[in-house]
Amino acid sequence: MRDFSRDHDWLSINTATVRQSQGQPLPLPAILDACAALGIRAVSPWRDQVQAAGLDAVARQVRALGLALSGYCRGGMFPAADAEGLRAARDDNRRAVDEACTLGAPCLVLVVGGLPGALQGRAAHKDIAAARAQVRDGIAELLDYARAARMPLAIEPLHPMYAADRACVNTMEQALDLCDELDPLRTGALGVAVDVYHVWWDPKLEQQITRAGRERLLAFHVCDWLTPTTDLLNDRGMMGDGVIDIPRIRGWVEAQGFAGYSEVEIFSTGNWWRRAHQQTLATCIERHRSAV
Ligand code: ZN
Repeated sequence: MRDFSRDHDWLSINTATVRQSQGQPLPLPAILDACAALGIRAVSPWRDQVQAAGLDAVARQVRALGLALSGYCRGGMFPAADAEGLRAARDDNRRAVDEACTLGAPCLVLVVGGLPGALQGRAAHKDIAAARAQVRDGIAELLDYARAARMPLAIEPLHPMYAADRACVNTMEQALDLCDELDPLRTGALGVAVDVYHVWWDPKLEQQITRAGRERLLAFHVCDWLTPTTDLLNDRGMMGDGVIDIPRIRGWVEAQGFAGYSEVEIFSTGNWWRRAHQQTLATCIERHRSAV
């Protein structure tokens, strides 16, 4: 297992982590500059932030600063209530693949979606099996497009508390079943993003990380699970402040040969987004060394 205690060479910042600074939105160009100034070598930007700043301008800035990407957030949201919705999701996901290529991302992260309409508070139905079938079909179709573009797709299983509104793929086992079905030859075109926040509780986690193997481990996301957690979405903790044994999980991932970035992804309306982004980034560096 790599020694992270001396430097932050393998730290990546998911740009949502400093989406706000002292409660105010922080534009992506300022985030990229702040990361580069602190010697952070990699980032994983979100589509909305990229769109606000302009895709080509962001791609130029990333190159000029010498930053690498550890992923691109995100595609997915496949299920829909009708054919028009499915087409819209397909087209949007193809655009996400194109953007990921322009930015030089190593993979497009997929948050696959849940019951159509649930995110807006109006679920169109209660058939989660049907939603999962649409996810499978959506990934299968996107995979052809992504393969041609040479952009790997990373399915991110989300904690079951998000099954209704964000992702009905909720365990590593489920994600890897999809990988085995859609990419049985393990070509590297389809894999998983392991986010400790979503999977730390899973009794089969070690077994499924072993099953994934190097070809399927495309991204590794870290933060911490706070007790108590006061918001289902935006109360993620800084590494070391919660109950996740992050080094143990990183050990399992690295035992399979994963040698990529450890990407910090923290959504925190009540704490980190209220602080100055320089302080949040400095804490990410410190905890990357001591708690990851
Ligand atoms: Zn994640």
